[in-house]
Amino acid sequence: MFDNLSDKLDKAFHILKGHGKITEVNVADTLKEVRRALLDADVNFKIAKDFTTKVKEKAIGENVLTTLQPGQLMVKLVKDELTELMGGDVAGVNLSGNPSIILMSGLQGSGKTTFSGKLANFLKTKKNKKPLLVACDIYRPAAINQLHVVGEQIGVEVYSEEGNKNPVEIAQNAIKHAKANGFNVVIVDTAGRLAVDEEMMNEIANVHKAIEPHETLFVVDSMTGQDAVNTAKAFNDRLNFDGVILTKLDGDTRGGAAISIKSVVNKPIKFIGTGEKMEAIDVFYPSRMADRILG
Ligand code: GDP
Repeated sequence: MFDNLSDKLDKAFHILKGHGKITEVNVADTLKEVRRALLDADVNFKIAKDFTTKVKEKAIGENVLTTLQPGQLMVKLVKDELTELMGGDVAGVNLSGNPSIILMSGLQGSGKTTFSGKLANFLKTKKNKKPLLVACDIYRPAAINQLHVVGEQIGVEVYSEEGNKNPVEIAQNAIKHAKANGFNVVIVDTAGRLAVDEEMMNEIANVHKAIEPHETLFVVDSMTGQDAVNTAKAFNDRLNFDGVILTKLDGDTRGGAAISIKSVVNKPIKFIGTGEKMEAIDVFYPSRMADRILG
């Protein structure tokens, strides 16, 4: 994960090796390379610029007080800033409802259906919940089948209505079914498109309004870099979602989405997907991710 970025940051920190203290000049040289590394990782230009400005101020300020070597100080400051940028504290999922209703949103192919299964499995096995999965993709019978296959794999019931073309109705009926049958979490998987379009946004906004979810999650493919951030913004403008799920972090992703998304939409990343299997889900810890980025 993020090998390229880790290597480049490491090279940047090397500039300070052998220097007894931080100076305006050596810090500027180092941060120029840090900024370049972030831009290469597909971090938005303004975020990369603000990032290095903040680290520079802290480096000059703390230099006087610290006993750390310049290189160590810089690693620490970059790590702290990355952690802050990616969300600071760990954010959980709101499970206060009975049932707790979780709405999944995102583009087609982002990993929504897979993640719905992973989340159901996580809540069942780790949180002792009884989840119900709901198939609301009325356009692609294959998507409904896919959710049934996932449900079978993890031993979680899947609610779907063959022939019903109204996702609001399906979601509402599913919630009634959950209440009547003792399910305490309802995970609603919705239809995505290949790109943001008005019809899809209207549809998911209608479902959102009708079922008033406790938690609305936006799923995005981390391999799509800056596009991931732009798509997040479009969905957030419409749904005001609660959290982001970054998928495919096991792939050759450059890291830009992980680093930028929180500061653009001001919503935390809550989970990451790290593979196709149902167990490939991790709670997102900003500080652990920062550690990984720093290699
Ligand atoms: P949806 O259209 O948003 O429901 O996306 P799917 O759940 O069908 O996922 C699209 C493809 O991405 C499938 O082939 C999944 O197996 C794959 N996928 C989903 N999540 C991950 C992940 O975290 N890592 C990898 N490597 N593949 C994933």
